[in-house]
Amino acid sequence: MDFTESDELQMLRQAVSSIAAKFGHDYYVRKAHADERADELWHDVAEAGFLGVNVPEAYGGGGGGITELAAVQEELGAAGCPLLVIVVSPAISATVIARFGTEAQKQRWLPRFATGELKMAFAITEPDAGSNSHNLSLTATRDGDLYRLNGQKYYISGVDECEAILVVTRSGVDADTGRGRLSLFVVDVETKGLETQVLPVEITAPEKQFTLFFDNVEVEADRLIGAEGEGLRQVFFGLNPERILSAATANGIARYALGKAAEYARGREVWGTPIGRHQGVAHPLAKAKVEVELARLMTDKAAWLCDHAGDTPEAGEAANMAKYAAAEAALGALDQAIQTHGGNGMSSEYGLADLWGMTRLLRIAPVSREMILNFVAQHSLGLPKSY
Ligand SMILES: Cc1cc2nc3c(=O)[nH]c(=O)nc-3n(C[C@H](O)[C@H](O)[C@H](O)COP(=O)(O)OP(=O)(O)OC[C@H]3O[C@@H](n4cnc5c(N)ncnc54)[C@H](O)[C@@H]3O)c2cc1C
Repeated sequence: MDFTESDELQMLRQAVSSIAAKFGHDYYVRKAHADERADELWHDVAEAGFLGVNVPEAYGGGGGGITELAAVQEELGAAGCPLLVIVVSPAISATVIARFGTEAQKQRWLPRFATGELKMAFAITEPDAGSNSHNLSLTATRDGDLYRLNGQKYYISGVDECEAILVVTRSGVDADTGRGRLSLFVVDVETKGLETQVLPVEITAPEKQFTLFFDNVEVEADRLIGAEGEGLRQVFFGLNPERILSAATANGIARYALGKAAEYARGREVWGTPIGRHQGVAHPLAKAKVEVELARLMTDKAAWLCDHAGDTPEAGEAANMAKYAAAEAALGALDQAIQTHGGNGMSSEYGLADLWGMTRLLRIAPVSREMILNFVAQHSLGLPKSY
């Protein structure tokens, strides 16, 4: 067991960090407020090859895994620039296509994932299904050489900046269980019958959320990823990376917040001594630091298992636990960083309160705190399923 990061991983972190430092949290917030995309940041990280670190070398990628991609995302978060499209595009969509795509599909999409030129959104959430994927109702119906998609998705991140969407559909019903059988399709955003609508949320980020309406959208059969009806099993190869990348997002934000809090607590004097000397200020920050480091450790373990053990129960358990721990630790760290700043914690200038929406989101998505606790209760502790 070796807890030191390889030289390559440390160099990757430093390189991402120095690119992100050129932009910083001010850039991120400015873009969000101007309703603009963080294209320049995406471009520079992509140009350095860092958005394709997990794409196989045979397709022009870095040949690494989720460990490397999580390091990229954590460093962006630590610079105050967490990007949601990294979670859905290289982490979920590229992983699923690399694992289940045909050779032609891999040739078609992976090289452009590797360069960061291709961004692909991911759509599973529906208004009426909630956390219960078995209840998805967006249907894919075979019609000769194509499939017709009908239904709705919501809270789909970054659709306006993506070329295509990996869509989870219901393509049939399992005769034994009565549950939906799912299939995955890559659908171009610019397809007849697909309408996109911005879904306003209280999150300060350059990326927007969308509701998608599919009205008889025609999709060629060569857009089906993997086997028809096997979508639920396949999508899990992307959902563990999604959880790990979400954990990395939270860990990065937590580092950003704690860095700012410690700096402020060292410099701010109210009673003739730095406020960081008061244990009422120092101890909550120290506690937050411990919790963030524990979450980072679990995230590393989850990423390692994802890269080395694939979609095993251990990898799933670790990915869930990492997401849970990181979201809770980040919320604690950000809250304490705001408190440390007193009134300044709420000012725009100090760049903390605007991250609350994004950090709070990570307790809800991509899988909620409660659904993770259900998973752990049932699978790790052997307790009866409650729902
Ligand atoms: C900003 C943002 C970006 C997002 N991006 C994407 C995206 O790109 N693609 C995508 O597909 N989705 C995306 N989502 C959706 C997100 O993954 C879901 O919101 C999340 O999985 C929770 O599902 P839900 O909203 O349907 O909540 P619900 O399932 O309706 O749950 C509501 C509440 O009930 C609780 N609950 C539900 N069932 C149980 C149970 N059995 N036991 C205990 N508690 C329970 C939940 O924990 C939650 O607190 C995004 C959401 C947001 C807000």
